[in-house]
Amino acid sequence: ASSIDDDPEPGRVRVAVRLRPRNAEDLLSDADFGDCVELQPELKRLKLRKNNWSSESYKFDEVFTESASQRRVYEVVAKPVVESVLNGYNGTVMAYGQTGTGKTYTMGRLGKDDSSERGIMVRALDDIIANTSPAHDSVEVSYLQLYLESIQDLLAPEKNNIPIVEDPKTGEVSLPGAAVVKVQDVDHFLQLVQIGDANRHAADTKLNTESSRSHAILMVYIRRSVHGKVENESSSTEKDSRSDILGGNHVPTVLKSKLLIVDLAGSERIDKSGSEGHMLEEAKFINLSLTSLGKCINALAENSPHIPTRDSKLTRLLRDSFGGSARTSLIITIGPSARHHAETASTIMFGQRAM
Ligand code: ADP
Ligand code: MG
Repeated sequence: ASSIDDDPEPGRVRVAVRLRPRNAEDLLSDADFGDCVELQPELKRLKLRKNNWSSESYKFDEVFTESASQRRVYEVVAKPVVESVLNGYNGTVMAYGQTGTGKTYTMGRLGKDDSSERGIMVRALDDIIANTSPAHDSVEVSYLQLYLESIQDLLAPEKNNIPIVEDPKTGEVSLPGAAVVKVQDVDHFLQLVQIGDANRHAADTKLNTESSRSHAILMVYIRRSVHGKVENESSSTEKDSRSDILGGNHVPTVLKSKLLIVDLAGSERIDKSGSEGHMLEEAKFINLSLTSLGKCINALAENSPHIPTRDSKLTRLLRDSFGGSARTSLIITIGPSARHHAETASTIMFGQRAM
């Protein structure tokens, strides 16, 4: 049982904060700076030091200390979203934070040598595969990166600039041309992600870019044949669900849903004043997609009838998997050291805007 799972408002973005353990650099700078955060996990609160005399306290749906396990983070943050996706709803799990605070560790860690280290992506696929039947259901993935408002296919790197198309009738978002691979088992999935990550690094080297500047997006498409009672009556179905009720034929209802797992670009602000040319374009675009995500999260939190998803590719991609009947979890990652106080404060404020 967790606060996220028990939340009575399904459309709200659930926000958890995770503190990365101290690393060598933090230890070296501790003498000068010390820590700037104090966690109170039982109160689900985090205290951010303002100066030597005072601190501000913030409430989250969940607060993970540096000793929280990958399993626990998955179970609290992602599992409720996965369960909802298995029931036919769309869902999103995102990680937001400064570079080096553990977004990729939390989301994309493969844990090939030690499965206890597996991150949210692998655990989600494991869960989905365990709860679907290879004979009747299908589980497919696309793995993409969004960089400078352009979508690249990490499973088919020759594919660049993949368009985002929205069905005017259903609002369903699709990516025509992106590779969609049917996942056989967890080992197959691990291979796919490894290929995708290698393509991401190769592209970085070739284009002299840094993956911390791009968003990595895993899309999981699930189609389930459901016999008998359908739990989610409002989800998109291919066959008329009345055929089940009428009991005439035994054509199963097909539930379609998708899960997005997003390892966002580093939230650190790039100094635009010192940047030129390519760097300046980059700074503008990265700020655009994260700023636009912040606005959408804020609008959702305020129950606004208008969620401004059109402003960036990231939010257009999230459009049908975010808010409404879709279940959304955001995990914000922070480091302990006061040397990053400004970035940590800005990450905490981003998370607070969703609450
Ligand atoms: P980001 O993706 O936000 O840039 P990473 O996930 O690459 O950050 O993490 C930076 C470093 O910190 C990596 O070496 C990672 O293994 C380590 N790290 C991050 N979070 C944890 C954690 N909760 N426990 C142990 N190591 C962590
Ligand atoms: Mg990373």
